[in-house]
Amino acid sequence: MDSQTKQYIDDLAEKVILAYDISIPIHDIDNVVQCIGGSVEEDPNLDMFSDGAARKEGLFGFCIAVSSSQPQIRRTFTVAHALGHLFLHMGFRTDWELWERQDGSAYSRFCSSAAEYQANAFAAALLMPREQYGEAIEEYTHGDSVDVTALAAFFHVSLAAAINRGRHLGYL
Ligand SMILES: [Zn+2]
Repeated sequence: MDSQTKQYIDDLAEKVILAYDISIPIHDIDNVVQCIGGSVEEDPNLDMFSDGAARKEGLFGFCIAVSSSQPQIRRTFTVAHALGHLFLHMGFRTDWELWERQDGSAYSRFCSSAAEYQANAFAAALLMPREQYGEAIEEYTHGDSVDVTALAAFFHVSLAAAINRGRHLGYL
């Protein structure tokens, strides 16, 4: 992913946080989805490794399907990832013409790896915004080392997600 796209995704997540007055860290991603105008649906037919899928509902709404067997932290990231697809690739609140073309009858699938990376980057930026990440780094740095486990727990993300985000932001 080029640096321009990375910046665009960070900025977009930042705008979403401001527009919907989302408090960080996010404790309840379903509540965030509701604030944005959608809902989360647990689908027992999805396996625990499956990607969250977003579907347009009505003109302004949407539904995100997730596996019912995912651990909480993974589920949160999966929903945030699906929000990434919604804003970045389905045009929700960002590109009206693209959004209008979304067929609400089926969940959108994104097979390209570029789209997957972008949705992951959006999820990370939503769950760990730059400013709050910087503050948390200060909080959890003891001497020369960062307690990444505590940092990950603070943002309700996996250790791998916290480390990736720290590298992306140049903190780790
Ligand atoms: Zn995806």
